[in-house]
Amino acid sequence: MNTVEKAVFDFSDYESLEAAVASERVQRARGEMGRRLLVLGHHYQRDEVIELADLRGDSYKLSELAAENRECRAIVFCGVHFMAETADILANRPERLAERGGARVPVILPDLRAGCSLADMADGAQVERCWHELADVIDTEDVTPITYVNSSAELKAFCGRHGGIVCTSANARGALEWAFSQRERVLFFPDQHLGRNTARAMDIPLKQMPLWDPGLDGFGGNPAEAIRGSRVILWKGYCGVHQFFLPGDIDRLREKYPDIKVIVHPECMMEVADRADALGSTGRIISEIEQSPPGTRWAVGTERRLVERLRREHPDKEIHLLSDEPCICETMSMIDLPHLCWAVENLAAGAAVNVVEVEPQTARWALEALKRMLEVK
Ligand code: SF4
Repeated sequence: MNTVEKAVFDFSDYESLEAAVASERVQRARGEMGRRLLVLGHHYQRDEVIELADLRGDSYKLSELAAENRECRAIVFCGVHFMAETADILANRPERLAERGGARVPVILPDLRAGCSLADMADGAQVERCWHELADVIDTEDVTPITYVNSSAELKAFCGRHGGIVCTSANARGALEWAFSQRERVLFFPDQHLGRNTARAMDIPLKQMPLWDPGLDGFGGNPAEAIRGSRVILWKGYCGVHQFFLPGDIDRLREKYPDIKVIVHPECMMEVADRADALGSTGRIISEIEQSPPGTRWAVGTERRLVERLRREHPDKEIHLLSDEPCICETMSMIDLPHLCWAVENLAAGAAVNVVEVEPQTARWALEALKRMLEVK
């Protein structure tokens, strides 16, 4: 549910703002609000936007920050829609609401068009249908649903209702281990690659990981036998940005630079993950590069903006983007300076625009699954 309170300032007056002017105005409005305003920024965000964030991180870190902060009275989220939903659920969970006498912290997404194509690859109706079909061949009491945090609040609530968990790329292995300590099988959605790469690292064979295609009839396009023999049922979703990275890119760079170290995000396809030296969440990629000795040569398979920022921040290391393709998250890019300035100035003037607010029943169940996520490292 997105709500748009009547804006004090109209966006049309912001569209052609010069970057320097918009940046200065954001800083001024932030100064007026002090600690009452928390601006969170995802690592894939535009440089000029993330420079204005109070705190930056990957999905897991930003979830923790939203969960921990007690001072702020509004959050402006420079990320995408599912991240703002997660922040809303955590910042407005019952104990925090009670501490604030029932006052909600509005979570603002400066441009509501900033979605995630991966999150859009599974919806509630499709997952419910899958669950019912699975019940024809296996006991769903033996299945733990795991949703990657890159999913709608509706799917997180599904996991909460069915004893499942949310995972991020930073704790996917911990989440799978937790799931197997509870039950025999896992239904993992929406990112097949994160599920496959993580399960393979736990020595689960590919033949025990059928791929559920929600567009196909008959057990997502699988014979019943494949479902009966499964340990991890993967959902046919993917992040388009991370599919730009191909095995041939690694071969090409290794041929040119035999000493290069390759680190890729687990949303990359298995054939890329297998050739890399390391797999890591955005946070891990950053820390591995930070901790490597000067002169280390890296190829990084994740979003371009993050890689270019790492290159600037570590001039003593040689850092390559793994692909020659653009590899930019276009939806994240929708949060630009004019939208940020518009959202923050409206907030300083008392109007919360573009508020992302999760419906209470959905939030209640999604919180169950998110709490488990925050407990699992
Ligand atoms: S990089 Fe991919 S998974 Fe991440 S927000 Fe963009 S589309 Fe979604």
